[in-house]
Amino acid sequence: MSYFDSLIREVADFPKPGVVFRDVTPLLADAGGFARCIDALAEPWQGSEVQAVCGIESRGFIFGAALAQKLHAGFVPLRKPGKLPPPLVEVAYQLEYGSDRLQARNDALRPGERTLIVDDVLATGGTLAAAQELVLKLGAELVGASVLIELEALQGRSRWPGATPLHALLRY
Ligand code: IMP
Repeated sequence: MSYFDSLIREVADFPKPGVVFRDVTPLLADAGGFARCIDALAEPWQGSEVQAVCGIESRGFIFGAALAQKLHAGFVPLRKPGKLPPPLVEVAYQLEYGSDRLQARNDALRPGERTLIVDDVLATGGTLAAAQELVLKLGAELVGASVLIELEALQGRSRWPGATPLHALLRY
């Protein structure tokens, strides 16, 4: 078990039967663990001249904001509907049951701004694919994405453009 593994709690049958939920709150609560996690997330992007970090609501905000500080970049929240005031740009995406949308202010990123997307968990990949579409819709340059955890069995990586780097700190 790696150092970070020991700070992530597995919760069976949450939020519904058959699902194993990875709870990252023990890692956030551990001062040393959180700091080392942000260092490790930042490491592949040193020298990549990232100008903006887009965090996906809601745990992507926590990791994304800390990572933005580490990379000396700005932070842009990609939010669920009803949270940001207009004018907005949005992307709709499918969930297992139903659909959802991700939104950003329509001038949240500058044209060509070198942008990194951050979230806590990559599962089926729908959320990260929507975030990628939103960043491109805003006219920015997508440098890549970082997630703390990739759930490999769900094959979310197959929905991410292969030529663009996608880093995962932990894989289950
Ligand atoms: P996807 O769209 O199926 O890849 O789901 C990814 C989104 O669902 C991310 O924004 C995660 O925050 C959330 N998510 C999925 N599985 C877990 C989990 O086990 N723990 C925490 N968040 C999860």
